[in-house]
Amino acid sequence: INPARGSHVDVLIIGAGPAGSFLAFALCRAGMRVKIVDKREVKIPTGHADGIQPRMIEVFQSYGLAERFLKEAAQIRVKAYYVSAPEGGIVRTILEPTVDGSRYPFEATLAQSGIEDLLRNAMAEHGVYVEQPKVPVSLSLSDDETELQTHSSKVYPVKVVLERPNDSVGVKNGRNGHTNGATAVLGSANGAVQEVVRAKYVVGADGAHSWVRSAVGIDMVGESTKFVWGVVDFVPESDFPDLRISCAIHTKYGNCMIVPREKDLIRVYVHLGDVEVGDSGRIDRSQFGPDEILRVAQKCFYPYKLSAPQGFDWWTVYIVGQRVASSFSVKNRVFIIGDACHTHSPKAGQGMNASMSDAHNLAWKLAYVMRQWALPTLLDTYELERRKFAQDLIDFDKMFATLYSNTPKPGDKDHERFVEACNAYGAFISGHGVQYEASTITNIAHSPLASGIVIGQRIPPGTVVQVANFRPYELHDLLPSDTRFKVLILPGDASKPKQKAKLDAVAAELDRPEGFLKRFTPAGVPVDAVFDTITISHTTCAAANTLTIPSRLQPHWSKVFIDAETLCERVGGNLYASYGVSDAGAIIVCRPDGYVGMVAALDDLAAIGRYFANFLQ
Ligand code: FAD
Repeated sequence: INPARGSHVDVLIIGAGPAGSFLAFALCRAGMRVKIVDKREVKIPTGHADGIQPRMIEVFQSYGLAERFLKEAAQIRVKAYYVSAPEGGIVRTILEPTVDGSRYPFEATLAQSGIEDLLRNAMAEHGVYVEQPKVPVSLSLSDDETELQTHSSKVYPVKVVLERPNDSVGVKNGRNGHTNGATAVLGSANGAVQEVVRAKYVVGADGAHSWVRSAVGIDMVGESTKFVWGVVDFVPESDFPDLRISCAIHTKYGNCMIVPREKDLIRVYVHLGDVEVGDSGRIDRSQFGPDEILRVAQKCFYPYKLSAPQGFDWWTVYIVGQRVASSFSVKNRVFIIGDACHTHSPKAGQGMNASMSDAHNLAWKLAYVMRQWALPTLLDTYELERRKFAQDLIDFDKMFATLYSNTPKPGDKDHERFVEACNAYGAFISGHGVQYEASTITNIAHSPLASGIVIGQRIPPGTVVQVANFRPYELHDLLPSDTRFKVLILPGDASKPKQKAKLDAVAAELDRPEGFLKRFTPAGVPVDAVFDTITISHTTCAAANTLTIPSRLQPHWSKVFIDAETLCERVGGNLYASYGVSDAGAIIVCRPDGYVGMVAALDDLAAIGRYFANFLQ
C-alpha cells in the first residue's frame, strides 16, 4: 500500500483519463508515491474512445489486466469494406482479418469509462484513488538548478497548488470518496479550499486542452483539418448483415464506419462533409444532433435499414485536428502525456492507445530514476521515443483521414487506395509496428544475430516450454511489466558440449563483480531486482535437462526453458526460427516495457555491460 501521504509525493498526476490513470497504476505498482487528481466531479459515464489495439491488450496482459479487460470488451476479428454498387445500394468488396500475426488477433472495443474503471480498480488495490474534483491553480519549478539536477529522494522541486472547485466544506470527492490523505490545506480568495503539493515530478495528463501544458509554456504545433465527423453510439435495429464486424462504407452519398461494441452497442462514424468550419476552427454544434448523424448513416447504408429504437447512448461532432506538442517535458521534472501532447482523428482508434502507451513508456523510466538506479538522462528518452511516435502517428493520420473523408467519384481509386493504406499500415495500426529509434536504451548494432527481431520494436510473441515440467508458456507471460530488464539467453542447443561450454562462460561472466548483473544491481535489493534472466535452449524435450543449465542462470527452476514442440499439445518449437536466431545462439535484452533494447552474441557480455552503462548507475 503506497498512497501519497501528506503534501510530499513522488509524482503528481493531473488528469485521470486513460493516460493519467494508466500512469498512476503503473507507478504505484512500482512502489512510487502517487497522487492523481481530476477536475471532473465524477468519472465519465459513457462514450469517448473505445478501440483497443492488439498491442495494448499485450500491455494490459503484462500488467495482469487483460483477463478483466477481455471479459467485458467486444472483439473485432474481421473487417469488411463496402462501396456503392453499380445497380444502386452498397456492395461488400472485401472481407478480411482485422490483424495478422498477433498474440491477440483482434481489436477490442470497450467504452473509455470501462478502461478507466479497469485502471481505477487496479490502482485501488495499491491504495491509490483519484481525487476529484480537484484542479491545479499554480505550478512552479524550483529555480535552483542544482536542486533540479538532483534526483535524490529528498528533493521535491515542483510546487503545485490544487483547489477543490465549488467546495465549501473542504473535502468533496468523486465516486470513490478518497483523498489519499493529502494535507497542507489553505484557504483561497474565492472560498475554495486549496492545498499545496510538493512533487519530485508532475505529469500533465489533462487532455487536449491541457492546463499543465499551458502553465509550462509548451505549444501545440499543427493544424485543424476541414474534415468534420459525427459519431453516435446506440443499440441498432437493422437488416445489414455485417453490424458485428468492423465496416468501412465508402459511397457516393458519404462515408461511414461501423465499430461493434460491448453490450450490443455499435458506434457509427459519419463524415459530415459539407459543414462550414468557422475561423476559430470550431463548428456550430447546434446544427447537429444524433438524429442528423444517423440520417447521414442511413443514406450510406441504403438499401439496408438502420435505426436506434432504444435511443442514443452517446454522440459527438468533431473536427479532426492534427497537432504535436513542441516539447514533452520541462527539465525532466514536468511531463505531458496523452492528448496533452498529441491530437489527431479518432478514425484509426489510436488516441487512447497512444495515450496509455506514453504512460507505459514513462512509468519505468521515472521509477528507475526515482530509485536512483538510472541516470536522470534516461528521462530524455521519453520525449525522444514518444515524440517521434506522435509525429509518425500524425503523418499516418493525415493520409488516413484524407482517404477516409474523400467521397469516391465514379472512376477514381479512392476506395482502393484506402484499402491499400489499411493493409500497408496494419502493423502500425495494431501497435506492433511501433519502432523506437536508436538511443542509449535502443542499441541497434547487433541485429543480424536475431534477424527475425527488430530492435526498438516490442519482442514478438512465441511459445517456450518450461523444462522442469514441460509446460508450454507464451513468452510474453514471462515478461511482465514489473520494471525489470529481461535478459533472454538463447544458447543454441545446450545439450551439445560446444554450446554448453558457451553457456557456462556466460554464467561465469555474470558472476564477475564487473559483469553487468552485479555491477548494476544495487546493494541491498534482491539479486534479480533489476535483471530477470531466462534461458531458452534449442533442445528437444527428451534431451532437455535443467542440470545442464549453470546454477547462476537458474536461481529458480521456473527460469529454464526450451524451444521445442511439447509432448502433449504439440505446440512450440518455432521460437529460434521466428526470431532468426541460429544455433550459435544470442542474448536478447528486453526493456521493462517489452521493447527489444539490444541483441548480443553469447561471448559478448561486454557489449551488454556497455549498453547498461549508458543509463544505469
Ligand atoms: P482525456 O481522455 O481527455 O483525459 C483527460 C482528463 O484530464 C479528463 O478526465 C479531464 O477531466 C482531466 N482534466 C482536464 N483538465 C484538467 C485540469 N485542469 N485539472 C484536472 N483534471 C483535468 N482513441 C482510441 O484509442 N480509440 C478510439 O476508438 C478512439 N475513439 C475516439 C472517438 C471519439 C469520438 C473521440 C473524440 C476520441 C476518440 N479517441 C479514441 C481518442 C481518445 O478519446 C483520446 O485520445 C484519449 O481519451 C486521450 O486520453 P487522455 O487521458 O490523454 O486524455
